[in-house]
Amino acid sequence: MKKYKIALLPGDGIGPEIAQEARKVLAAIEVRGQMEFECAEAAFGGAAYMQTGRAFPEQTMEICDAADAILKGPIGLSKEEADQIPIDEQPERGALLPMRRRYDTFANYRPVYLPKGLAHFSPLKAEVVGDGIDLLMIRELVGGLYFGHKERGKDDAGRRYVRETLEYDEVQIARILHVAFGEAQKRKRVLHNVHKSNVLLSSVLWNQVLEEVAGEYPQVEVRHIIVDAAATALCLDPRQFDVMVMENMMGDILSDLGGGILGSLGLMPSACVGPDKAYYEPAHGSAPDIAGRGIANPYSMIGSVALMLETSFGRVEEARAVWSALEGVFADGYATADLAVEGATVLDTAGFGDKVVERLRA
Ligand code: NAD
Repeated sequence: MKKYKIALLPGDGIGPEIAQEARKVLAAIEVRGQMEFECAEAAFGGAAYMQTGRAFPEQTMEICDAADAILKGPIGLSKEEADQIPIDEQPERGALLPMRRRYDTFANYRPVYLPKGLAHFSPLKAEVVGDGIDLLMIRELVGGLYFGHKERGKDDAGRRYVRETLEYDEVQIARILHVAFGEAQKRKRVLHNVHKSNVLLSSVLWNQVLEEVAGEYPQVEVRHIIVDAAATALCLDPRQFDVMVMENMMGDILSDLGGGILGSLGLMPSACVGPDKAYYEPAHGSAPDIAGRGIANPYSMIGSVALMLETSFGRVEEARAVWSALEGVFADGYATADLAVEGATVLDTAGFGDKVVERLRA
């Protein structure tokens, strides 16, 4: 029987609640797919800092290093809590960015997906999204403003200043573009390149590299769109997009907009893939506003399990079964609190997970 080692990092806020549902799904998949998951749980983020004084403790690194894949819940503290701990140990700076750097997870896949039968969850008009939403955002994840040189201090006049640099080199740009072209080639052969070359030099280089890489994918049509226009276009009519590629910060912002047009961030799983290791996480944060109430939507975390099954373990059939179970629960008329449309029976976090497992066992 094939055995896979998973590092499970429940994280902060709603993280442990939705990670619990992912565990249930993994158990159901073990039986169904005749495989074994060895899950090692480890602290990461704010909770890890409280326990050990480090947001990404040594022991967690060892567990992640030894794993075949990492399944991560959201991390993050409320502003008030974060203000209590040193700036370098705050969850994103102390754990998330170091994890991305450690495993060089440059390719972030963020499916923005709502099947036809669930289109009523979207806040967009039925005539626009009646057939559902299906696009894929590819975000560069280890470069740009988030990873460039940073400094802060006081200038000669005694004024506080901050300097953060947006850095990319051509190799970094080319490798994410190859990922995006590859995905576009597998889908509708249209790639939207999201940029800001009217203002940013980084986008000028990005677009030059794109021209070079595009030569290797003659079947893919490239359409250029400036990031601010892309935000509007996504709200007005997401049907015009299939695969979109963008640098780190643009992807951070536009993919949350993706959650908005689906109806909830709770519908946004993601895969963060590096040359040797990948980790999987909901695209949303730790939702401190609803943590501990048992009402978080675990779809994003369970969808991240599906992405892990397919991408890291090559178990396409089991991944499909998870997607189909997730969709099936909604199609049966259930919803979580964030998606509570008229007529739906609202399930709590555990209740939704149970229904997914029931379908996987059926
Ligand atoms: P958030 O994504 O946590 O929440 C935004 C809104 O969406 C909230 O109203 C929340 O209740 C709702 N929401 C999010 N996920 C949901 C789910 N699964 N089910 C139902 N509702 C859901 O964004 P925020 O409030 O700006 O950030 C909270 C913390 O998360 C911050 O500390 C932030 O830094 C962190 N964060 C972490 C990650 C990550 O771990 N990759 C990503 C984004 C934000």
